[in-house]
Amino acid sequence: AAVGSSPAMKQVKLEKESELRIEVSVNSSLRLRLLNGNAEIFGTEMPPENWLIFPPRMKFAIFTWYGATIEMQDNTAETDYVADETPMISYVNVHAVLEGRRNRAKASASDADTSQGPRVIVVGPTDSGKSTLARMLLSWAAKQGWKPTFVDLDIGQGSITLPGCIAATPIEMPIDPVEGIPLEMPLVYFYGHNTPTVNADLYRVLVKELAQILERQFAGNAESRAAGMVINTMGFIDGLGYDLLLHAIDTFQVTVVLVMGQDKLCSMLKDALKQKQNVDVVKLQKSGGVVSRNSKFRAIARNQRIREYFYGLSNDLSPHSSIANFSDLSIYRIGGGPQAPASALPIGAHPVADPMRLVPVNINRDLLNVVLGVSFAKEQDQILSSNIAGFIWITDIDIPRKKITYLAPSAGELPSKFLLMGSLTWIET
Ligand code: ATP
Repeated sequence: AAVGSSPAMKQVKLEKESELRIEVSVNSSLRLRLLNGNAEIFGTEMPPENWLIFPPRMKFAIFTWYGATIEMQDNTAETDYVADETPMISYVNVHAVLEGRRNRAKASASDADTSQGPRVIVVGPTDSGKSTLARMLLSWAAKQGWKPTFVDLDIGQGSITLPGCIAATPIEMPIDPVEGIPLEMPLVYFYGHNTPTVNADLYRVLVKELAQILERQFAGNAESRAAGMVINTMGFIDGLGYDLLLHAIDTFQVTVVLVMGQDKLCSMLKDALKQKQNVDVVKLQKSGGVVSRNSKFRAIARNQRIREYFYGLSNDLSPHSSIANFSDLSIYRIGGGPQAPASALPIGAHPVADPMRLVPVNINRDLLNVVLGVSFAKEQDQILSSNIAGFIWITDIDIPRKKITYLAPSAGELPSKFLLMGSLTWIET
């Protein structure tokens, strides 16, 4: 299109049970709308005729059960194509089974055992469509009036909050195709790194904390108990990754394991879980539409996620810059660092790192650009078991005056002086 003129439009007609797969270009956003028929984006129905604007790099599909016409900008930098082979029928069949279990749970609300709705975990290698399936199952359930709990154990990307955290939130409405999951008040635990190998013990402890809190919430809320949960996991499925999957299945008392297109993982899990009578392991086909993302793309996505936390998806938030004295803040790392100096140990013994040790962090220039978790802990000994209120980003350190400048999503005092540090940093681009 000529400079200044509005870009040309095109119409795409979708036959029943087909989908339009789109990768928005890296430089510009994409406008499109549903002209007629019905269509959904990862389980959420598209509103008729309203224009939707998708940000650069977004990858998604518009699926129709009965046929639809889409009007969209005709941008040559964009990738889009129609596919008529999708695993959507098998996915919606899973939804139907879960729906039956939710109804049964609701009908027996007085019985502690049978009133528990399905606890679903989605597992599989990276880029197998785990997050996408989790999202569809949640949105379909929400459309039918349930409030299922979404648990995200994927510290690599993070669909509920920032990377490096595990989190849970009730899903009360189908998930917005552009905005994603609303960031309001999720239950978040700060791990601090985007791989579990840094401190697997800490990861396990946090998973357990999260599960215990949810268990308590379910005990007092028959509605969310019956709706159950959908758990998204990391794409790390070998060795430690596999152990952590088993740990999560056990800790959350999962009843349905959905394995995305991996025979080996599926048979290993079937074998490992065969003693548990009430656990179903189901293999599902991976969608041909799932886009592989390389490590550079993932790093950019993590960065974008942090920007979005402070500034909003379309720069619609106004974060607040504050200045604090060094002495007002207590920053800790969890784990790492030898328990005792080598000189204090018997000859031949190696210092071992205590994964759960709270290590105070000295404030110096190294903290510049670091993203910290703001603990809800009131006392130091509560830090390990506390969830976090949100994040701050360090923008300046003034050593002579002992002042620290940070950006927070809003003005006002931090809920606690205890801050958690991992390897999460951000540089404004
Ligand atoms: P990871 O373990 O790395 O987090 P994942 O298994 O959760 O990956 P997804 O995030 O679900 O994979 O999918 C990868 C990418 O492919 C996402 O950007 C998603 O939006 C996109 N995608 C998934 N399904 C489709 C589809 N049918 N058509 C187009 N894009 C899709």
